Formats: sequence, C-alpha cells, structure tokens
Amino acid sequence: MGDPRGFLKVRSRREPAERPVEERIKDWLDVHAESGLQDWTQEQAARCMDCGTPFCMSGCPLGNIIPEWNDLVRQGQWEDAYHRLSMTNNFPEVTGRICPALCESACVLGIHQPPTMIKNDEVTIIDQAWDLEYVKPLPPERLSDQTVAVVGSGPAGLACAQQLTRAGHTVVGVDRDGEVGGLMRCGLPDFKLV
Ligand code: SF4
Repeated sequence: MGDPRGFLKVRSRREPAERPVEERIKDWLDVHAESGLQDWTQEQAARCMDCGTPFCMSGCPLGNIIPEWNDLVRQGQWEDAYHRLSMTNNFPEVTGRICPALCESACVLGIHQPPTMIKNDEVTIIDQAWDLEYVKPLPPERLSDQTVAVVGSGPAGLACAQQLTRAGHTVVGVDRDGEVGGLMRCGLPDFKLV
C-alpha cells in the first residue's frame, strides 16, 4: 500500500538534470547529469496512488507490477523492489533507459498532475541492485536433457534464452551478425545506454 497522501504532498514531477548541450556535443555519453539514486527519488515514488485499476500496468508491454515496486522504492526496499521488477522484466537496465515509457502516458495521476516517475524508478531499482550486489546468477536446480536453439540474440532472443536456461534447458544461441546483442548492440547509440 503506497502513501495515500503522497501525491498531495508532492505535486510536481522532478526530471533528472541533463548535462549542458555544449558539453554533450563533444561526446557520446549519457545526456543526463543525474543517474541512479537521488535525494528526490523516494519522494517522487511516493506520488504513486496505488490505483485500484493501475492503468500504468496496462500501458506496459511487459506487464510490470509498477505500483508494487513504486511503493518499495518509496520505502527504500531495494532488494524486494529488484525481485518484484525481475518477475516481469529480463533487462531492466535497458528498458529503464530506452523504453518510451508508455506506462507514464497511461498513469492515472497524469489526468490531473504530471505522471509518476516510473521509468526513473525502474532504472534506479536495477542500478541499486547491481551496486548492492543483489543481482545473482540463477542456475536451475536440475538440468533437463533438452537443448534448445534460440535464433537471434536481440532482447527477445536473450530473454528467451534466459528463461529457458532458468527452466533447466541447455540453450544454443545463433545470430546472423556473429555478435550477441542484436538491437541492443547495433541499433542503440551509446548515449542512450551508458
Ligand atoms: S497509474 Fe500511476 S498512480 Fe496509478 S498505480 Fe500506476 S503509477 Fe501509480
């Protein structure tokens, strides 16, 4: 259960600060000057109303359980937030940076205030999880005798391979480019992912 008055206490949205354009045109690094946990992150997460019908989840193609991890961010429960996020998302490091955040367009709070900072919460959760060493390999308890070929090593192929591996199957990945990553490697400029 979120803070029922959070959206009344904090009515404005706080965007991460960006580096000056004069600086950004000289490199390919992240446009943001602020990344990871900020002193305003938890206050912003408290704006989530924990809606009875959370349209943010309908807007998310992954069906991320957004109200639950928004509340865990509010409380600073990073490990629980990471596990909740990982239930539906294989690569929050990527989606938290490059997703167009349809969830925020669908956020009910957006009807009368700026929407919640879902995308920023997502990337903060996974950055915290890496920093605090909550991200661990999840080897299967037993191996099946099945080997599965996954064609394509873009986000969908890698997510598929991860799920199959966790289910105990041996995975052989193939990709026409000879390098793993697909769109994540070849289709995204560095300034969106670093
Ligand atoms: S729609 Fe917006 S306010 Fe409602 S639960 Fe989702 S993120 Fe929170």
